[in-house]
Amino acid sequence: MKEEKKKKVKKPRGVAQLIPGKCIACGARCEASCPKEAITMNDKGEPIIDVKKCIGCNKCVKVCPSEALEIYYTPEELKILAELEKDKEALAEIEAEEMDEEEARIAAKLKEYKDVWVFVEQTEGEPATVSWELLGVGDRLAQALGVKLCSIVIGSKVEALCKESFAYGAALSYLVDDPKFLNYRTEAYRDAVCHLADKYKPQILLIGATGLGRDLAGAVATKLATGLTADCTGLDIDDHGFLLQTRPAFGGNIMATIVTERHRPQMASVRPHVMPLPERDTSRTGKIIRETLKVGRKDLAVKVLEIIHDAKGKDAVDVTAAEIIVAGGAGLQAQENFSILQELAAELGGVVGASRRAVDACWMPAECQIGQTGKTVGPKIYIACGISGAIQHLVGMQGSDVIIAINNDKHAPIFEVATYGIVGDVFKIVPAITRRIRELRAQK
Ligand SMILES: Cc1cc2nc3c(=O)[nH]c(=O)nc-3n(C[C@H](O)[C@H](O)[C@H](O)COP(=O)(O)OP(=O)(O)OC[C@H]3O[C@@H](n4cnc5c(N)ncnc54)[C@H](O)[C@@H]3O)c2cc1C
Repeated sequence: MKEEKKKKVKKPRGVAQLIPGKCIACGARCEASCPKEAITMNDKGEPIIDVKKCIGCNKCVKVCPSEALEIYYTPEELKILAELEKDKEALAEIEAEEMDEEEARIAAKLKEYKDVWVFVEQTEGEPATVSWELLGVGDRLAQALGVKLCSIVIGSKVEALCKESFAYGAALSYLVDDPKFLNYRTEAYRDAVCHLADKYKPQILLIGATGLGRDLAGAVATKLATGLTADCTGLDIDDHGFLLQTRPAFGGNIMATIVTERHRPQMASVRPHVMPLPERDTSRTGKIIRETLKVGRKDLAVKVLEIIHDAKGKDAVDVTAAEIIVAGGAGLQAQENFSILQELAAELGGVVGASRRAVDACWMPAECQIGQTGKTVGPKIYIACGISGAIQHLVGMQGSDVIIAINNDKHAPIFEVATYGIVGDVFKIVPAITRRIRELRAQK
């Protein structure tokens, strides 16, 4: 009986239609998404849908940023859909039959990919904290998908990092441990990650957006022919099980959420300190899968002669890792005036950063420079003192959660990106804030 029903009934697909008054003329995204060229744009930038060509594939509905499109069904079609809804099994079979070959091939391929992976970055055996942060968010994603959270550890004598990854939530660790992987080299590490991904098929692969991670992620995504969203600030799973990769776009003016629908793994990189560090629990254990692979001589062509650590080593100020930054610019007028920023930063548990003009004047060291030719930072609080807000500075700090600008020029561009703005003299305001914090502390 079911067989007969299946052949007779065809699932109605409906046609796309515009909901009046909702289109924001975003730039013809629906037109670009249509596989049947059923959409043209009118002179107001709104879609005109050719219902004869439309196949109800839903693509335009999905890409529309203002939810201005929907699928329209006739009353008869709605009746058939309601009937089919009652028999989920038959509906699934009909959908599978109707799926064209290419879609079916892709759907079958995607099903092979299972777990959530995090690449554990290390230099001379020292792990990058961002890897543990990624295990924290990876755990949430794995739970939402009902799959395992795994780590990949590549290096020489680095098995301890597999165990450390268990402490941060991984249930399984893939280990490539070989003296050839002692130092990071793009080709060799890329091949190791791709070898693991081809063999064990993760559906999600997360990599820290550090210097090394950015280099590796791009190389891996290119070789695996998949998508990569760099510098994500948010990761989630949607109703279809896709990874929602959110990141600032157009100079931070909008947040874009990107989905890799047809390729695997779904790759994303995340900057350090964007995701919270999960709790470390050394009682947790997991399974280690050891893998070996041949590394060709051409993949080891780059020779690492020496690793030169930052002159100040662990004492160096790392503005990229700071949660609170008090940054100074030309408005500070002299090197010694930065002491007022140091005092405020010390009270807040933050660090001092600088604009390029302050660095060029030798008031602050180059590693503190924030901006296009300096560091990109994303602290919880960024206090810009005597900084005008030139675009080259803004690109390095506008991802901060809260921006407080102090400037005596009310027209300074920094106020355009500021969450809170204080128009006034930095030499009066900064010490006043420091004083007030101390008073509040003393009261406690
Ligand atoms: C290719 C290129 C790359 C660059 N890269 C960077 C970069 O990475 N980072 C960067 O920062 N810049 C960079 N710049 C330089 C950038 O264009 C600006 O020149 C620089 O950011 C300005 O620094 P500033 O805001 O400290 O100085 P200014 O623009 O001179 O601003 C000083 C501000 O202090 C205010 N002020 C003065 N006195 C007081 C006071 N007593 N109280 C309160 N406010 C006061 C003034 O109103 C003014 O707004 C780059 C430029 C180029 C061309």
